[in-house]
Amino acid sequence: MASAAAAKIAEVRETTRVERIGAHSHIRGLGLDESLEARHVSQGMVGQVSARRAIGIVLKMVREGRIAGRAVLLAGQPGTGKTAIATALAAALGQDTPFTSMAGSEIYSLEMSKTEALTQAIRKSIGVRIKEESEIIEGEVVEVQIERPATGVGTKVGKLILKTTEMETVYDLGGKMIDSLLKEKVQSGDVITIDKATGKISRLGRSFARARDYDATGQQTRFVQCPEGELQKRKEVVHTVTLHEIDVINSRTHGFLALFSGDTGEIKPEVREQINGKVAEWREEGKAEMIPGVLFIDEVHMLDIECFSFLNRALENEMAPIVIMATNRGITRIRGTNYKSPHGIPLDLLDRMIIVPTAPYDEKELREILSIRCEEEDCQMSDNALTVLTRISKETSLRYGMQLIMTSSLIARKRKAPEVDVEDIKRAYQLFFDEGRSVQFLKEYQQEFMF
Ligand code: ATP
Repeated sequence: MASAAAAKIAEVRETTRVERIGAHSHIRGLGLDESLEARHVSQGMVGQVSARRAIGIVLKMVREGRIAGRAVLLAGQPGTGKTAIATALAAALGQDTPFTSMAGSEIYSLEMSKTEALTQAIRKSIGVRIKEESEIIEGEVVEVQIERPATGVGTKVGKLILKTTEMETVYDLGGKMIDSLLKEKVQSGDVITIDKATGKISRLGRSFARARDYDATGQQTRFVQCPEGELQKRKEVVHTVTLHEIDVINSRTHGFLALFSGDTGEIKPEVREQINGKVAEWREEGKAEMIPGVLFIDEVHMLDIECFSFLNRALENEMAPIVIMATNRGITRIRGTNYKSPHGIPLDLLDRMIIVPTAPYDEKELREILSIRCEEEDCQMSDNALTVLTRISKETSLRYGMQLIMTSSLIARKRKAPEVDVEDIKRAYQLFFDEGRSVQFLKEYQQEFMF
């Protein structure tokens, strides 16, 4: 089961790695030096030095596998980089460590209960590194038959025959192997290796050329005769999957295709119990290793008392991921109760959290962040325009300032200017309201909006 699961997951991962220019796409890491001190500007991160340093220590703990069951709260005003810092942590952790990002409000859906949504988020944040011995077969090609469907569409089927001095082995070719064979342009006499776990075929070279019967139209391709022996080697292959991915793949009602649609619905507790048992077995046999990852919950004040108590208990589990929460609320009501508490988080949970504050940026830092975003969005901007944009961001918000980059850049392009200038920023500022002006506008024209 492990290998099938892992191979499928590899495909899923690839599809989700397509990167677009998102709000945090300029962030490539926490920008720390070897002693975990934050460089003022590095890896797309600017300032917020003490928070980055604190998260650097969290990073070290995650890397050493000593983080399970802890929780961090990033507390600060909107636009002070809480999500940016969590994203930077994910980037610094690398591909192998699972990182899940969600907003507190996402747990409310008609499809699943709140606790199921949280359980899925937690299991998405726990990795299982599965070590497998994969058989690598090395030999020379005797014969390959690939039959394409007569219509030209549909699944290709095929066989690969590797003949040794003692025996002849026939391999049924799956779609992946056929693609791999065609890609490598394997011919008779080629020495190839086949990784049995992944189906990957690599062409090492040619020992002697005796290609015959090569049908260039590819209806049926034959590679003939090679006397050399087949050599088998063993190689250790490591795949990392999350507990949630294993759950979904093994959930009979869903199947792995649900991973593509994200429409996984609720997973039966029996399935999870079975998976936990299996994983524990793999761990004992030394075949698997757990990797506690990171679960980031933004707008955590949107969770209610039931979620908080569920999380409190879940954190005690030895396999819990590190939970990083973010909030921009001060003292506020805990959802589902009439009580108020700092950040809307119950005191018993708050008590076990490490709180990392984020502070507003000064003008120099804002300018630096905006300038990085201009580069990210391929926008040339004059120095004066950047100064005006910085001032606007300070008065309104960093997010609003960032929105103006693209809009003013389109306005500049319309007048065929090589770079964004002050007049473009002004125009964009007039066309698109920030929150403050929008509220003001609504207040002034309240009468007209009502009926
Ligand atoms: P909210 O409380 O509204 O969720 P936030 O504190 O999570 O806000 P972010 O979304 O992280 O704020 O920041 C707003 C924008 O500024 C994002 O595009 C983010 O990538 C960028 N940003 C914030 N801080 C930094 C920083 N220190 N370095 C580089 N980019 C930053």
